[in-house]
Parts: sequence; structure tokens; C-alpha cells
Amino acid sequence: MYDLPTPSFALAQPPPAAVPAGEKLPLAAVALGLLALLAAVADADAGRARLSLYLALALVSAGALGWAWLAFGQRPAGWHPHDLWRRASTARGAVAWATGVALTGFYVVLYWFPWLLENLIRALDPFSQALRHKAADQWFLYGTFYTLAVLVMGGRGLWKYRFARYHLARTASVMFFQLGFGFLLPGLLLALQQPEYYFSYFWPLKYDYLFPGTVAQLLQGGGLGVFMVFWGVVMSLVATPILTYFFGKRWYCAWVCGCGGLAETAGDAYRHLSDKSRQAWRWEVRLIYPILGLIVLLTALLWLGASGMVPALGVVTGPLGQFYGFAIGSVFSGVIGVGFYPLMGSRVWCRFGCPMAAYLGLLQKHFSRFRISTNGGQCISCGNCSNACEMGIDVKQYAQRGESIVRAACVGCGLCATACPRGVLNLENGPREGRLAGSAFIHADSLRIL
Ligand code: SF4
Ligand code: SF4
Repeated sequence: MYDLPTPSFALAQPPPAAVPAGEKLPLAAVALGLLALLAAVADADAGRARLSLYLALALVSAGALGWAWLAFGQRPAGWHPHDLWRRASTARGAVAWATGVALTGFYVVLYWFPWLLENLIRALDPFSQALRHKAADQWFLYGTFYTLAVLVMGGRGLWKYRFARYHLARTASVMFFQLGFGFLLPGLLLALQQPEYYFSYFWPLKYDYLFPGTVAQLLQGGGLGVFMVFWGVVMSLVATPILTYFFGKRWYCAWVCGCGGLAETAGDAYRHLSDKSRQAWRWEVRLIYPILGLIVLLTALLWLGASGMVPALGVVTGPLGQFYGFAIGSVFSGVIGVGFYPLMGSRVWCRFGCPMAAYLGLLQKHFSRFRISTNGGQCISCGNCSNACEMGIDVKQYAQRGESIVRAACVGCGLCATACPRGVLNLENGPREGRLAGSAFIHADSLRIL
């Protein structure tokens, strides 16, 4: 892994990529939809606001799907980077900055000024009543937007990656888990007067699921509550290590998790923006493992406090819990994690902040069969693989040496292998023996070009 001082070897700056004329119409529908959304935010009349909101969602969804169909469905199937480094929207240009500011602003309002969204929230009341038998709140609004983003941009992914079964399957999987387990099922549970529980999120990502307070509350809820506690404990402490042993962290990060689902669908166009430098990797290690340590410590202290063995532990756990909830649960995972997509790539949270990713990463690196094998003799050093990596792994460096890639950060999205024009990379779950061995065919040291 090395710093890359020169982003491009081009002698002249390439001109910015123009949007093809046919794609302007669906993009105009998206823009109109966003205007309708602003109208709904500002309209105190509930009926009109509802109409504006539904119109906005229809225009944005239809426009985005129409654009994706033209941009990907109408072109030959295959890997096309599509001028990502030449577009203002995907190369940290003005559009990317505007999108980043708008997304960040939305999260700030959602977390700390939700009354500004009151008209939108009230406009969703009938839908919320129908699904959950309960009035809408800011989190229902957020869940609706989030799920729609995963479904619509998942549709884009299905067209874009229609040539690769692996990507079709994992895109369909994250769409299924977000819609079913991240949105409909929790709503149904509320409608049935049960605790709102997310079966696809586990401790330490859903950090309070193994807190004594949450466990006690669930256990009071009868048979289903007991099952929820059982599910949470088994998934976090038993199933996660076993599944990671066999498949690496990809079984969760690229197939199930809602955060990963948003990154793989809505964030797909920003994956190349992840920083591949050694400095970024240092920050990754400095942040993600202390965050995992913090949530493990907090959980342990809470259980110690609940056991009564150390009285007055609440003096420590109260502020620590508040700090974690604010700094990590809100600011990092939401405001920065998604707000910074257009500037820092789609996996800012997964790479630098998520304690579940840290836990899975440790298992993947030390106790898993998963690796990406490379055949260095075939590599032409084009760099497509590193460019495609959303976790900031400089895949090319491994490929050139014929080294297997065994990295805690890798989420197993498989895009590096798809982007490679030479078929150098292969995601494998074979036996652990020889997992770290280099290419059996041609070792990089035996290559002589001149
Ligand atoms: S190394 Fe490949 S499979 Fe792993 S996260 Fe990067 S692009 Fe995805
Ligand atoms: S995409 Fe393939 S050929 Fe290009 S640098 Fe990566 S491994 Fe080598």
C-alpha cells in the first residue's frame, strides 16, 4: 500500500463528460421531484403536502429509474466506468458538493431539528397508520426515504450489473433485507403491538440490542420478546463468527446490512472516491477499533452495573452512553456516513466507524476462509480494481505481486474482480491452508520485463 501522489497520468486535463441529450429528460423529472419535495416541506396544508410528497416520490423514483435504464440498460452489458472521474457529480465537482451539503443538511435537520420536517411527517400519517397503526414520526419518514433509495438505486444496480450473477444476487438481497426486515416487518410488529425490532441489525452495530435495559424490556414482552433476545444473542455471538468463518464479512456487509445496502445501491456511483492512501488506512485503524472497544466496554459496564456488583456505575455509563449515541450513533453513522458519500465514497461509515465492520473484519482477517486470490502474472497494472474498491484497498498492489488479499476491511463486494479486464482476481472461500500463499503460477519476483 503506497501513497498515490499523482491521480492521473493524462498530459492534459480531459474535458468534463457531457450528459447525453436523452438522459436529460429523466434527470429533469428528478429535479422536478425535488422541487415538489421542497413544496411539501413548506406546505402546512396536510392534504396538499401529501399530494406534493407523493408526486415528489413518484417523479424522483421514475426519473432515477428512467435515467438508469438509459444509462445502463441501453448500453452493452459489461463493466463501464462511465466517465466517473469526469463528471461534476461523481468527481467531487460542484454537483457533488451540492449533493453532499444537501444530504448532510438533511441529517442535521432529521436528528436535531425534526420540527422543520413536520409537514412532511404529517403527510405520511395515512401510510404510517395503514402499515403500523401509529402516527408517523421523523424515523418513519427517514425509513421510507431510505428504503425507497435502496429499492430505486437497487433497480439501477440490477441494470448496471445485469451481466454478473454475483452482483444481481447481492443487489436483490440488500433490497429484500431492507424492504422486508428493515421496513415492513418492524412496522408490522408495531401494528401487532409488539416491540419494533430489526432482525437484520445486530450488536455491536445496533448497540443497544445487548444492553441490559433493552434485554429486560424485551423479556417482559412475552414469547416473541424472548425470541428477539435469543435471536440478538445468537446472531451477534454465535452465527456471526460461524458465517464469517465460512464466507468472510461479505455475508453481512454486502448482502444483509442496511448501511451496506445503501452504500451498494445509492452509493455505488461514489465507490471510486474512497481514499487509497496509507494515511487513510492509518485513520481507519485509529478510529474503527477504538469505536469497537468503546461499545464493548460500555456494554460490559452496563451489565456490571445491572448486576449490582459495582454500585453507582451509572455515573460513568450514563454520560458514556450519551456520548456514544450522539457522536457515533448519530453524527458518524448518519451525518458523516451518508452525507459525505459524494466526497469521500460510499463506505465512510463502514470503513472508519462501524463497530460491526470492525468485529467482522477481525474475524475475517484471523479466523476466516475468505480471501481474494490473485494471479499476478496476468495483471497489466491498469488499476481498475483499486479504482472500483469502495473500502480504499489498493487491490492492484496485491495483484501485481500475486499476493492473496486478506484484509479486515474488504466487504467482499466483488467489484474489483468484475472491473478487472484480465480475470486476475477471484473471491474464494476455500480451505484455510495456503490462504496467504501467492499465485501458484507465476510469482511476481520471477517476472522480467526488460
Ligand atoms: S477488495 Fe474487492 S471485494 Fe473487497 S471491498 Fe474492495 S472491491 Fe470489494
Ligand atoms: S484490474 Fe486486473 S489487470 Fe488491472 S491492475 Fe487490477 S488486477 Fe491488474
